[in-house]
Amino acid sequence: MRHLSTGDALRQKAGEDTPLGNQARESMERGELVSDELVAQVVRECMTDFSDSTGFVLDGFPRNRSQADILEEVAGETPLCVINIRVDEEVVLKRLSGRRHCLECGKICNVYFSPPRQEGVCDTCGANLIHRPDDHPDVIQRRLQVYREQTKPLTDFYSKKSCYFEVDGNLDTEAVFGRISAHLAGEESSAGNPHLSTDRPSL
Ligand code: AMP
Repeated sequence: MRHLSTGDALRQKAGEDTPLGNQARESMERGELVSDELVAQVVRECMTDFSDSTGFVLDGFPRNRSQADILEEVAGETPLCVINIRVDEEVVLKRLSGRRHCLECGKICNVYFSPPRQEGVCDTCGANLIHRPDDHPDVIQRRLQVYREQTKPLTDFYSKKSCYFEVDGNLDTEAVFGRISAHLAGEESSAGNPHLSTDRPSL
């Protein structure tokens, strides 16, 4: 399956000196959501680029009710599996505030859990590590507030549906990956499941 992170796609747009790029950058730097119109455009563009793929992992989308409606519309008949990775706020704070990115090779490390051998330098390729502007504590607090107000209500919306699956994201990466993989494998093999079938691509 192809991985589409709306955050990654929007960071790319935000790097462009265009009206849409500037609009995206301002919202992201404040920790606010980018407009639904721009997000919908980004999702549609990526899905067209990935049209040869057998399915998509949509990471960070939908983030509010109107984006859930956009997803229904773009998914059409394609079956969905909605995965909510639940993480305690104090864990989120450490993961985000300690996160550092390498813009050259894409490696992510964390100054608390997996510090680089040399401060500010990528272990893999030697390039400089960056601290995302929205990973600073004041912006993280705003992102958490936006999450509580706009995204958390989606759990009520989806948890009533059989396509919904929740996993404990406080566990380590391998454990979370293992639980999600096992769930998807079980869904695929359960005969007659209307939400995931083997003859159609899955989201
Ligand atoms: P992320 O990389 O998923 O943490 O997203 C970083 C930032 O990109 C968010 O704080 C938002 O400003 C923006 N963003 C990412 N995905 C969405 C979305 N689905 N809707 C609106 N804004 C988004």
